Amino acid sequence: AVVLSFAGLVGRVAGRDPTADPMGRSLRQRIDDVIADRDFQLLLQPIAALASGTVTGAEALCRFRPTPYRSPDRWFADAHGVGLGRALERSVVAKAMEVLPDLPRALTLSINVSLDMLASDDLPALIDGPFSDRVVFELTDHAGVQNPSTLRDRIKRLRQLGARVAVDDLSASYASLSTVLQIKPDIIKIDRTLVRSIHLDPASQALAAGLVHFAQAIGATVVAEGIEHAQEARCLRDLGVSHGQGFLLGRPGSLTALQTRTYLT
Ligand code: C2E
Ligand code: MG
Ligand code: MG
Ligand code: MG
Repeated sequence: AVVLSFAGLVGRVAGRDPTADPMGRSLRQRIDDVIADRDFQLLLQPIAALASGTVTGAEALCRFRPTPYRSPDRWFADAHGVGLGRALERSVVAKAMEVLPDLPRALTLSINVSLDMLASDDLPALIDGPFSDRVVFELTDHAGVQNPSTLRDRIKRLRQLGARVAVDDLSASYASLSTVLQIKPDIIKIDRTLVRSIHLDPASQALAAGLVHFAQAIGATVVAEGIEHAQEARCLRDLGVSHGQGFLLGRPGSLTALQTRTYLT
């Protein structure tokens, strides 16, 4: 680690881009290439009804070439940092719309989008067509809604096409609660930090029950994410959470993997 950080320091002193890859390409160039070549994969993770195990939808999760490894949320944050965020997100949505016709007919497809993207005017044209009513947009960041009325307008147009909006990673953070109040989403996704070991923690159970109650009041569906253990799934179901997602129910995988397991036991 000492050697690595020393090399990083030398690189910086010598004026080299510390984010450059072994070929010396800057992060911006790499993101540009990723967009131009559509050089990423979409994995699909099942979302299932907790009572029956029936898969009702899938979430598209982006994978980039791991050289060196960066998690998808870092890729998107970096892309936004160099002004390429929306372009990258547009190509993700376009690719997801190409996957959608091959999904089993009853399934929805959840696509992650930033607040910047959801508030832009780009999405309706990207999803317009026979499959728009199977799209769910998951709002992944809670940077704080600057202009709630514009955002509500954009969401209204998406809903006219039959699409739905989810607020992702809802936890105890005030930012996500205020977002939920402002946009009244169709779906609330309870974050893994609240799901982890929920069966052992009465305070987490109370908070989840409160979110279920809140969701009922605004007519939203609740999806719990990051479910890894059967006890967590049972506890969430008993608290009134209708849907779940996580390694227990299925890992992010290929379209074929999803097609062959529309039902879980
Ligand atoms: P997210 O939307 O909250 O996605 C859920 C993350 O939890 C995914 O990580 C998924 O692989 C992981 N996960 C699912 N089940 C489990 C589980 O049981 N246990 C654990 N420990 N993890 C689980 P991933 O794929 O690394 O994505 C991380 C984040 O990157 C996403 O969080 C999302 O915010 C962002 N992201 C991914 N794809 C896209 C995309 O296409 N567009 C945008 N804007 N953001 C994306
Ligand atoms: Mg998500
Ligand atoms: Mg999430
Ligand atoms: Mg997340």
